[in-house]
Amino acid sequence: MDYYSNQITRLIEELSKLPGIGAKSAQRLAFHIINMPKEQVERLSNTMINAKEQVRYCKECFTLTDQELCPICSSQKRDHQTIMVVENPRDLAAYEKTGKYEGVYHVLHGAISPMLGIGPGEIKLKELMQRLQGDVKEVIIATNSSLEGETTAMYISKLIKPIGITVSRIASGVPVGGDLEYIDEVTLLRALEGRVQL
Ligand code: ZN
Repeated sequence: MDYYSNQITRLIEELSKLPGIGAKSAQRLAFHIINMPKEQVERLSNTMINAKEQVRYCKECFTLTDQELCPICSSQKRDHQTIMVVENPRDLAAYEKTGKYEGVYHVLHGAISPMLGIGPGEIKLKELMQRLQGDVKEVIIATNSSLEGETTAMYISKLIKPIGITVSRIASGVPVGGDLEYIDEVTLLRALEGRVQL
């Protein structure tokens, strides 16, 4: 790509490191950025730096937030005795969009995958078990229906059942291997309402 100036090549290279951005998109974005007014470019880069500096994990549910506690964990209107376990903040967002779930969440930041060498210690599982020492009635496992998601669900239910807390798994209306965030709200709600006790 040395038919572009050095700076443009570097910009294209950096952009193409982003997920879902191929070489063509990276070129298009790079030229778009160069043609943008300087103030807009500054706003974009400052927003990225601020987000990176200020966003952290909620100390309760481990979703991304810029407060100590996320808005869901700090809300009095939520049912803090029901915890839905999801793999990532995008899945949390998908369930929040339904507007029908009133409990709180726990974000694992991944799933157990023996194939990828991701063990229980690499996701926020210990943190979940610590939360269960409080007043919790039900844990709803909403990990994806992929092999990793199912493995994680089984592992968690085995850990929790002896404690005497109800453990349920969202219904399998969710297509196998389907990422929760791509599933429409009706299907998500049906999966939640049709959850089965493990
Ligand atoms: Zn939270």
